[in-house]
Amino acid sequence: MNDKFGRKLEDLRISVTDRCNFRCRYCMPEELYGEAFEFLKKDQILSFEEIHRLAEIFISLGVKKIRLTGGEPLVRKDVTKLIGSISKINNDLDIAMTTNGYLLEKYASDLFQVGLKRLTVSLDSLDNEVFQKMSGKKFNVDEVIKGISKAKSEGFENIKINTVVRKGVNEKSIMGLVDYCRSEGHILRFIEYMDVGTLNSWDIENVVNSNDILKIISNKYKLSKIEKNYPSETSNRFSFDDGKGEIGFISSISNPFCDNCTRARITADGKLVTCLFANKGMNLKSMLRSRKSNKYIISEIINMWKLRDDKYSLERSKSKIKVKNKIEMFQTGG
Ligand code: SAM
Ligand code: SF4
Ligand code: SF4
Repeated sequence: MNDKFGRKLEDLRISVTDRCNFRCRYCMPEELYGEAFEFLKKDQILSFEEIHRLAEIFISLGVKKIRLTGGEPLVRKDVTKLIGSISKINNDLDIAMTTNGYLLEKYASDLFQVGLKRLTVSLDSLDNEVFQKMSGKKFNVDEVIKGISKAKSEGFENIKINTVVRKGVNEKSIMGLVDYCRSEGHILRFIEYMDVGTLNSWDIENVVNSNDILKIISNKYKLSKIEKNYPSETSNRFSFDDGKGEIGFISSISNPFCDNCTRARITADGKLVTCLFANKGMNLKSMLRSRKSNKYIISEIINMWKLRDDKYSLERSKSKIKVKNKIEMFQTGG
C-alpha cells in the first residue's frame, strides 16, 4: 500500500493520553497548560480495547512497528496491560515506547516483562537546574536517571535518549549527555527543535541545528558517519572512532526526511493523522463506536493513505503559506 509518493505504511505511533506530568516549553508551556487546562475526559480517549483493535487492523495492513507515546504514556493507568495485549498480536512486532522517564523506575520491570522491546527516554540535561527549565517542573533529574538505570538492569538494551536543544538554554548540557550515554551504552539522539503545533512560540532563532551540535561534539571526539539501519530511519547516525558508542541527529529543520516517511499517528482521541504537522485527522474513534466492521475501517485507512501527499518539513522553507491550527505534539504523539 503506497501513498502518492510511493511511501509504504510501516510505522504506527499511538498517543495513549494527552496528559503529562511535565510541561516542556517546546511542547506544553506551563502558562498555557496550567491547573485550569482541561485535558480529554476518559470517555473521549480510546479505550485499551479500541487501541488493541486498531493495532490489529494496522498490523494486518503491513505495520511492523508500533510506538506508544503521548502526552506521557506512563501516566495512563495500566498502560503495561495494553502493551502486553498488543505484543501478543504478533511475536515479530517491534513494540516501543517514548517516555520522559520520570515514572520509569516504578514501571521498568513490568514494561520488560510484558514484552516492550525498545525504550526511548527524553532527557534534555543532566544538570538539575537546566533540566527543570526544559521540563517546566520542579522535579529532580535523578529520578529520570534512576529510571533509565533500572530499565537497563531489567534487560532493555540500546536504550535511546532523545534530547531537544534550545538555544541559550541547554547547549552546555550537550557534552555531559554525550559522556553519560557513552559510558552507559545508550544511544543519544539530538532532535532539532521543531515548529510542531501552534502554542510553543517556536522561532527559528531558538533552534540549534544538528551541524552545530556535531561541531561541538567533534571538538572532543572523532566521529564517523554510519549507514542508517533502514531507509525510513529518522536519525543520521555517527559512531565514535574509539569504538565507544553511537549518536544520532534527527534534523527535521536542517535536513528533512519526508521522502522516506512511513509513519502514521493515532491521537489520544482516536484520529488518524498522516503527518506530525497535520491540522486534521480521520476519526477512527467514531468508526469504532458506531460499530463499523474491520473491513470498512481498513478500506477507509487505505483510501486515506493512498491520497497522502504530506511533505511538511521539506516544504516549510519554500512555502509562504502557514498551516493553521496544527495539532499539538502532546496530542499527536512525538
Ligand atoms: N512524554 C514523552 C516524552 O517526552 O518522551 C512522549 C511524548 S513527547 C511529545 C515525544 C518526543 O517529542 C520527546 O522526545 C520530545 O522531546 C519531543 N518533542 C516535543 N516537542 C518537540 C518540539 N517542539 N520539537 C522537537 N521535539 C519535540
Ligand atoms: Fe510531556 Fe513529553 Fe511534551 Fe515534555 S515532550 S511536555 S514530557 S509530552
Ligand atoms: Fe513525515 Fe510529515 Fe515529518 Fe515529513 S513532516 S517526515 S511527512 S511526519
